[in-house]
Amino acid sequence: MVGPEDNGTRAGEAFTALANEHRVRIIEILWNRRSTTPDPSPTPMPFSDLFEASDLDDKGQFNYHLGKLVGPFLARSVDGYTLTYAGKTIARAVQAGSVTDDPYVEAEPVEDRACPYCGEQGITMGYQDGIVLFSCTNCEGMAPESPMAQPGAIQAGSIPASALIDRDPAELYDDAILWGNHVYMTLLHGFCPACAGAIDEELVLCDDHDASAGACASCGDRFASRVRYECRVCGTVEWGTLWGRLAYSEPVFGFLYAHGVNPLRPGAEDLALSRDLTEEVTAVDPPAVEYEFAVGGDTLRVRVDEMLSVSTVGQSSESSEKSGA
Ligand SMILES: [Zn+2]
Ligand SMILES: [Zn+2]
Ligand SMILES: [Zn+2]
Repeated sequence: MVGPEDNGTRAGEAFTALANEHRVRIIEILWNRRSTTPDPSPTPMPFSDLFEASDLDDKGQFNYHLGKLVGPFLARSVDGYTLTYAGKTIARAVQAGSVTDDPYVEAEPVEDRACPYCGEQGITMGYQDGIVLFSCTNCEGMAPESPMAQPGAIQAGSIPASALIDRDPAELYDDAILWGNHVYMTLLHGFCPACAGAIDEELVLCDDHDASAGACASCGDRFASRVRYECRVCGTVEWGTLWGRLAYSEPVFGFLYAHGVNPLRPGAEDLALSRDLTEEVTAVDPPAVEYEFAVGGDTLRVRVDEMLSVSTVGQSSESSEKSGA
């Protein structure tokens, strides 16, 4: 087991090693020799080839910079040099940063997409600080969970800026929900999406919830319950809706799938599901919450306890009611 002791010192030394353009360039050279075979172990690059590709003329100076990278970012063998896991992570960050350069998008129109709430066109896309936000200019949208609850918001979430490359706003509108789904599935399987560390999860209720007028003034959401995920290793914290998580639980998944909604591949129009959803907090300490999903006249009511286990409370369908009458 690796303990946290000395992590700070070691990280400090590693970052100091990177604070030089020639060294970052060496990492880029190794990264840009992309694999063209399925062999998972990369082919080492001999010293002479690496020196040749570098922008340094002095072999001694080049060797000095190379030596600073070996260990944390480069592995050395008799055949040459390869990137370590940390070296690849740095290379990816440099690559993504150089092509995206912290983009900011004010409010670009999203063509040919209708709002899932009002059915009208007129959606806009904004992007800032790693968060994409789609809003409807015709209706209130569905004040989503944080981070950016604001009038008209229909879809918001973190997505790396690389997602904006080679996608127009309409494509991003369709795809951003899948990225969110992907991150959420990683959390649900107990992995940190940033580092694969183990995740602790907790059902959290808004202390002072009042959503009678739409979104609660205290938590900014229609729903009082949400789930907090924290990585035991890197400390990453993610918040997710409880109802979104429920879509992957067995009873709700089966109900939704039977009604034409595939939670494994949600579409932006499925966001409207939350509009017909009702929540009832049945206990506070320990917390317990009931949700009723309604699709096409049929309903499913489930209960979630503080361990986040889900059980069916009741179910009704229009057709069975008719046949029973
Ligand atoms: Zn709308
Ligand atoms: Zn609240
Ligand atoms: Zn982590």
